[in-house]
Amino acid sequence: MPRIPVVVGNWKMHGSLREATALVSGIVRECAELDGVEAGVCPPFPYLADVHDLLENSPVRLGAQNCHWEAKGAFTGEVSAPMLKDLGCTYVILGHSERRHGLAETDAVVNKKIKAALAAGLTPIVCIGELLAEREAGQTLAVVERQLKGSLAGFASEEVARMIIAYEPVWAIGTGKTATPTQAQEVHAAARKILEGLAGRSVAQSVRIQYGGSVKADNIDELMSQPDLDGALVGGASLDAASFCRIIRFKRR
Ligand code: PEP
Repeated sequence: MPRIPVVVGNWKMHGSLREATALVSGIVRECAELDGVEAGVCPPFPYLADVHDLLENSPVRLGAQNCHWEAKGAFTGEVSAPMLKDLGCTYVILGHSERRHGLAETDAVVNKKIKAALAAGLTPIVCIGELLAEREAGQTLAVVERQLKGSLAGFASEEVARMIIAYEPVWAIGTGKTATPTQAQEVHAAARKILEGLAGRSVAQSVRIQYGGSVKADNIDELMSQPDLDGALVGGASLDAASFCRIIRFKRR
């Protein structure tokens, strides 16, 4: 069965409520219909409810950028997966490199968060990717294997089937340096092989693997022409409605 590509915007910690509502209104206008592609936006937590309301009649879905691994409890400042579900989220981004490397999030923590997301009925977008020094040392595939095996440890094949993976080389995030289509394809194909070992061939063939890292309107078509790229996780370019919608409407070359 063909994989339906999925493009998701990660707004990170940007914008005011006024800017968030203007951005999502623009996206709703520009992306009134989607053909053969799934799309979503992940605003900061405080704007989820407003963005949700503005997406009411839109095919664009809502997601969040993180969640806690417990469903409830004394965890001051945290947000749980059931709360995100309650707010109408479809996706939750987990293990983003800005959390792995900036906030010391480990594969074990990502693993617990994925479990919580699945239990709440959310689709986890599980981020993996190597640092520049790791790429230069020829360790890219080993890093991706370690992160996938650690983050996905203990999940049944049916659970892996409910995830989206995002390969995001850390050196390409927010830097304007994109992996070449060939570099991205090499890692995506290797990641799919690792997924095959973890969850079997048919699940590995069905799981969407997004590429992330300085995706823009002018490089998406080339990237998406690679067979194992199934959409994109987009940071900076998702903060402009016209750019983001052009990315969603990529054209395979
Ligand atoms: C991201 O935040 O996941 C990302 C890929 O950012 P950017 O598109 O800005 O590189």
